[in-house]
Amino acid sequence: MVYIPPYIVSKLDTLSVYDVAERLGIEIVSNHTLCFMHDDHHPSMSFKKSDNSWRCYVCGVGGHSIELVKRYNGYTFQEACIWLARNFNIEIPDTKEVRLKKVAARKVSPKVEETPKVVDEEVLEWIIRNAGLSELAKDFLFQERKYSKDVVKAMKIGSISDATKFVAVLTKVFSKERCIKAGVLIEYGSKTLPVFRVPCLLFPYYDMDGNIRNIQSRFLGDLEKKKKGRFNNCKGLTPLMFNMPVLKSSGRYDKIYVAEGVTDCLAYLSEGKNAIALPGAGSFRPEYAQYLKDNTLFIYVDNDDAGKSLLEKMNVALRKVGNSIHNIRKDTEHKDYSEFYLSKLKEHEKDTGKFV
Ligand SMILES: [Zn+2]
Repeated sequence: MVYIPPYIVSKLDTLSVYDVAERLGIEIVSNHTLCFMHDDHHPSMSFKKSDNSWRCYVCGVGGHSIELVKRYNGYTFQEACIWLARNFNIEIPDTKEVRLKKVAARKVSPKVEETPKVVDEEVLEWIIRNAGLSELAKDFLFQERKYSKDVVKAMKIGSISDATKFVAVLTKVFSKERCIKAGVLIEYGSKTLPVFRVPCLLFPYYDMDGNIRNIQSRFLGDLEKKKKGRFNNCKGLTPLMFNMPVLKSSGRYDKIYVAEGVTDCLAYLSEGKNAIALPGAGSFRPEYAQYLKDNTLFIYVDNDDAGKSLLEKMNVALRKVGNSIHNIRKDTEHKDYSEFYLSKLKEHEKDTGKFV
């Protein structure tokens, strides 16, 4: 074993992770690249200048320069130090004779492959058919948010309360490999986990013809300090809009409310309105416009720059297909449509003397 003095270790570890990545053949764009440790289709690996670090938020693995070389080249700690020393002209005493394993040159870049992933409809449909509503899910949907039971049923919303049980039941019906390929399970070290952060709600996304295209989950636990978002999609699947079949059944010029996210969509639907949802707040993509060209469109956008820019972006895309969208927000006090919906319900209960 080679001895590497601590002052050299710290010198190596403070080499810029950006420079080290470049030397390894990793291309970074906007501080991101595709993770080389898992089958990544969206750039999950991020680099940070402020503390000279890198991290893959899917693998949960990260570190500084030595760890990057170790992981990328499959080296031991010592080997990674020697590789860094040689590539950045830092002298480590008595290591001239050490021979490093040759690592095949490869290029990593943040470019996402364009080939659309095949949707395993059988696996996705099975999950939706078998995902009932847990007490936690019912509390959220019916007590806290007061969405209509008929709407939740019609939208085939389900839930997962126990990750281990979900994996066990699912892999009794389908092989683990197939579930991973379908994007619903991931391997994390020696464990197999759902791609969804549990406990969660499951929202199935269908295309206009009613074929399942994706499942999105909404985490029901406390978000705490972890910055990870509430929503997950099947790995590799690009979500379209939620409740797209309504576009097929609605006539020309019918009113359609465009919600920012599924929960707001449920609020509109609970009021008896026709609604679809963008897969997240502000997540409009120009290609959605082609599906929205025939309807009279409304949206309740945030009263801030993000809201204004979303409205502008949607109208630019919609104008190209001969349509436009109207902002229906008049108030400033509600965070989103779900909150507005709840406040309307409370007013109504007050009026009818049923408010508790
Ligand atoms: Zn990763």
